[in-house]
Amino acid sequence: MNILLIGSGGREHALAWSLSASALCDRLLIAPGNPGTAQHGTNVPLDVTDHAALIAFCRAENVDFVVVGPEAPLVAGLVDDLRAAGIKAFGPSKAAAQLEGSKAFTKDLCAEFDIPTAAYRRFTDAQAAKAYIREHGAPIVVKADGLAAGKGVVVATSLEEADAAIEMMIGGGLGAAGAEVVIEAFLEGEEASFFALCDGTTAIPLGTAQDHKRVFDGDEGPNTGGMGAYSPAAVLTPELQARAMREIIEPTLAGMRARGTPYTGVLYAGLMLTKDGPQLIEYNARFGDPETQVLLPRLKSDLVTALLAACDGVLNNISLQWTNEAALTVVMAAKGYPGTVEKGSEIRGIDKAEALEGVIVFHAGTKQDGDKILANGGRVLNVTALGRTIAEAQARAYEAVSKIDWPEGFCRRDIGWRAVARERG
Ligand code: ATP
Repeated sequence: MNILLIGSGGREHALAWSLSASALCDRLLIAPGNPGTAQHGTNVPLDVTDHAALIAFCRAENVDFVVVGPEAPLVAGLVDDLRAAGIKAFGPSKAAAQLEGSKAFTKDLCAEFDIPTAAYRRFTDAQAAKAYIREHGAPIVVKADGLAAGKGVVVATSLEEADAAIEMMIGGGLGAAGAEVVIEAFLEGEEASFFALCDGTTAIPLGTAQDHKRVFDGDEGPNTGGMGAYSPAAVLTPELQARAMREIIEPTLAGMRARGTPYTGVLYAGLMLTKDGPQLIEYNARFGDPETQVLLPRLKSDLVTALLAACDGVLNNISLQWTNEAALTVVMAAKGYPGTVEKGSEIRGIDKAEALEGVIVFHAGTKQDGDKILANGGRVLNVTALGRTIAEAQARAYEAVSKIDWPEGFCRRDIGWRAVARERG
């Protein structure tokens, strides 16, 4: 079949790598893609916000199946429009993507269906919000309701910090995304990500991962889109995974179905493992980035078959097989990230890195210029390695990083530290 993948990041390179390996995939098109996805298919320079043009393209190119990578097109209703045009598409509808698009929506769903999450209240009035935090004290968490590209959450350690976040958000600092805020109790524990593939009725586990959000070693400095990740996350024991399925994922699916907006796609749960068990911090309505870069290299089953089964409502017939190996990815970013960065510096040595056993270099923000690869964004490469343990995957990934000649880039040197310490016991 002909498959169209939407997106252009490291996640989409990993998806392209996996989709193109399927016997079911005759032709892979990626819109708009990057130089990494071009190794596995044909990049097409489409404007993915123009749904009518995308549908016309699918018809002209006989596209049988569309896989949507990022959240923005999901929240904009791309899957609804494709399905209405008779084109099979993987990902949630606009209504179901609210699990990521609106924190208030998700918290209300949790309250209605008894899904464990931090206690919360919603506010559109700054004075009322400030009065509420005075009742509860700090630390306390202030969240913009809508999508805010990672800038919409403030874990406030003082009332003043919480006040400032409330004023910034309700005052319009994040545009419409912050007009409503959710204020929630601070949860203590270790964070881990749990992924499930959903067909509206059935959910099957799609692996575990942990990421590193802070820009500097030791988990210091400002938040980023993610500086690295590894899978599996041993802290999510089989018992905790079963509990997350039973107490969080399955009631969410049942709740969404009961509301008439069944959830199809990847449900990515950010969990806090508290002393009372796993609690939901947030949902994302799509594959993670960079978590996909460590999940898919471990997946032995055919990805296209699994995604089609999710669309067709037959996931109960699918059982996914995984390698016993661990995977770890190191994000190489342009100096200055997550602030402003310069584009256009040349990157050499990707081929030398990939010549190492068990190493794949996924492209995120790169650009092809003749036979050169240039940096073209903040997060630029995802240097990924498999190994028998996280420690081995980590050693291989950093050996691969050492082969990459890019003086204008940097990476964290401690990705996986927590898991490696856990392996050492
Ligand atoms: P992402 O970039 O992962 O999509 P986001 O901006 O949607 O994040 P959340 O994941 O909800 O926001 O929160 C960001 C971070 O803030 C979490 O990873 C967690 O470290 C912290 N956090 C959020 N809610 C809580 C909470 N209730 N208690 C403690 N920490 C929290």
